[in-house]
Amino acid sequence: MKIGLVGCAGRMGRMLVQEILKTEGCELAGGIDRAESPCLGQDIAVLAGCPAAGLPLTADAAALFAAADAVIDFTAPAATRAHAKLAAETGTALVVGTTGLSDDDLAVIRAAAAKTPIVQSFNMSLGVNLLAALVKQAAAALGPDSFDIEIVEMHHKHKVDAPSGTAILLGEAAAAGRGVDLAAVSQRGRDGITGERKTGDIGFASLRGGDVVGEHTVTLAGAGERIELTHRATQRAIFAAGAVRAARWLEGRKPGLYTMVDVLGL
Ligand code: NAD
Repeated sequence: MKIGLVGCAGRMGRMLVQEILKTEGCELAGGIDRAESPCLGQDIAVLAGCPAAGLPLTADAAALFAAADAVIDFTAPAATRAHAKLAAETGTALVVGTTGLSDDDLAVIRAAAAKTPIVQSFNMSLGVNLLAALVKQAAAALGPDSFDIEIVEMHHKHKVDAPSGTAILLGEAAAAGRGVDLAAVSQRGRDGITGERKTGDIGFASLRGGDVVGEHTVTLAGAGERIELTHRATQRAIFAAGAVRAARWLEGRKPGLYTMVDVLGL
């Protein structure tokens, strides 16, 4: 399977190059980044710390989508919107790992998925997707009248969006467990005289610093007891491995919008 990468010069892009090179049955179709990237022209495998693959980094998205069976996108929301439209035009399978996507961005991805198969997930790791299933179960069993749900996440200082996509994914799992819409109960970034906590709210808090790959704790706090469900990512390789697994899973798949829960069969 020929896999193309967008955002190839980024932290995840470089991990993905390494992952594709070591995965049997996968081949690098090429890699692109922004037209302003200082890395344009460099070999994408060398950029990732691997022996040269003879594939220079370009900014030609159309050529990449034409050459690839599947494209993996870990970039930024505006870029991902454009790539989703391109995937629909070319019928190329797409894996979207970008976070910070708005409802409008997600609607563009959903529309593209009517024409080509797409996996979109705010977290590609097996552990977090399993954690989401546990959170849903816990939230369903421990109702809002007796247990308050708070989600705390910490990431490295370069992360540009908050709360993390994974925190939102976990919040959605908790809301689904309680049969409510997350948007209606979401409580973000408390500050000042906020008043008492409302029954049923799902709270979010974000910490940023150092080189933390990603940590998430979902707390269910009741009177006299507290449950904490935590995932700690120590290597970005887990996201890259999940994304490549998703790309391979898309081979021969019908158009549609899929998640890692589908890919992992959870
Ligand atoms: P990064 O800033 O290191 O890399 C992003 C790359 O995308 C950069 O090289 C940038 O130049 C490139 N880019 C931006 N616009 C582009 C465009 N129009 N065309 C081509 N390339 C473009 O960031 P990162 O740490 O690699 O993370 C990227 C995204 O992936 C973020 O949204 C992050 O939150 C997300 N992420 C998701 C998961 C997951 O499992 N879903 C895991 C880790 C990171």
